[in-house]
Amino acid sequence: MIKKALEVLQRYFGFTQFRDGQQKVIGSLLQGLDTLAIMPTGAGKSLAYQIPALLFKGTTLVISPLISLMKDQVDALLQYGVPATFINSSLSLNEVRSRIDGVTRGKYKLLYIAPERLESESFRGLLESLQVSFLVIDEAHCVSQWGHDFRPSYLHLGPFLKSLPQKPIIGAFTATATEEVQADIVRLLELDKPSIFVTGFDRPNLMFSTFRGENKKEFVLGYTKAHVNQPGIIYAATRKEVDNLQSFLTRSGLKVGKYHAGMSDPDRQKTQEDFLFDEITVMVATNAFGMGIDKSNVRYVIHYNMPKNMEAYYQEAGRAGRDGEPGECLLLFSPQDVVLQRFLIEQTVLQPERKMNELKKLQGMVDYCHSPRCLRKTILEYFGEENVQAKCNNCSNCNDEREIVDITLEAQKIFSC
Ligand code: ADP
Ligand code: MG
Repeated sequence: MIKKALEVLQRYFGFTQFRDGQQKVIGSLLQGLDTLAIMPTGAGKSLAYQIPALLFKGTTLVISPLISLMKDQVDALLQYGVPATFINSSLSLNEVRSRIDGVTRGKYKLLYIAPERLESESFRGLLESLQVSFLVIDEAHCVSQWGHDFRPSYLHLGPFLKSLPQKPIIGAFTATATEEVQADIVRLLELDKPSIFVTGFDRPNLMFSTFRGENKKEFVLGYTKAHVNQPGIIYAATRKEVDNLQSFLTRSGLKVGKYHAGMSDPDRQKTQEDFLFDEITVMVATNAFGMGIDKSNVRYVIHYNMPKNMEAYYQEAGRAGRDGEPGECLLLFSPQDVVLQRFLIEQTVLQPERKMNELKKLQGMVDYCHSPRCLRKTILEYFGEENVQAKCNNCSNCNDEREIVDITLEAQKIFSC
């Protein structure tokens, strides 16, 4: 069976071999087993379900959280000559009708939808008549209330799957590895004796650095000027911060785009495409930008503010170097970032238990920023890897002895006053 999968990989996608993890996941799905695959950003999760989708009979349904993500995936598939489509709220009613018509005629091998679409009675009817044999949940951490992008509509997936006359094979894919999230996914989707694959989380080509942000603006300006022809993403915590930083960098003569949820759909679409096609090299954005975006040559990701937890950080930072070439991940942090993140958590309406969990995860992020240890080791251990070597020699803590001295001095200061 794997031989057939390899043929598809070569024929449709033009790659010569599977990457670590892909083959096992594909093998498991082709055997008809429910499969939960936890693979880091950039590992190639899409192909791990697209190839089985091409080998299974009929149409595969892919549940995807974002309109932009569906579009990227479908565009890429069409380029490879794979018949695929999406149905979502960005389409006119006529277009939806014509795509549904195509689906019923078996025109597509993959159909992407958001989970909200399943709330529609008529759409559910359509699926029942299709007898979907393979159903994929991409970015499956969205199912879990412990995942960082929890979406309540994902909770209805489990009951929906149960209501189907014939249960499809389920493939759930995510880059978020904590055991809580894994257990939640298995439970909520009612996966049947699932095979669970966790691919090594290390991204050896990424260099991690943390900086206590004294003058963040100047730092970012200096860095982007020194890397002027290299694609990079700068994440800031709020829309206002994005607006400010983008206009500051633009005034300084750099060509910089911005992306956040406060912009109109066409504006966001346009900057996203400009970035994908290297019309602009630097994107200043909130975390609304990037989930699943397949731009492989991003050379650096700067966090202008500390994110809310390690899951979010590693996912965002992991957008650097997806092509396997070196990438830099720089995290600038300041005490105000912690205050802001704590405020955001406090302000959200959450059950007390969940709030505690969010605060615990925030503490993990703060600990990372202050850690004198190897940053890679700190990340990998956070995600549950064992026996990680003490030093990677490719992070700011391994490479810069001064950092450790500084922190020690500072700690002494705290203790002596
Ligand atoms: P993610 O795991 O983050 O969803 P993607 O599926 O978007 O990752 O894949 C990341 C990149 O890796 C894409 O550009 C994809 O074409 C490439 N890729 C995936 N599998 C292979 C492979 N077997 N050989 C070479 N490149 C691959
Ligand atoms: Mg993906």
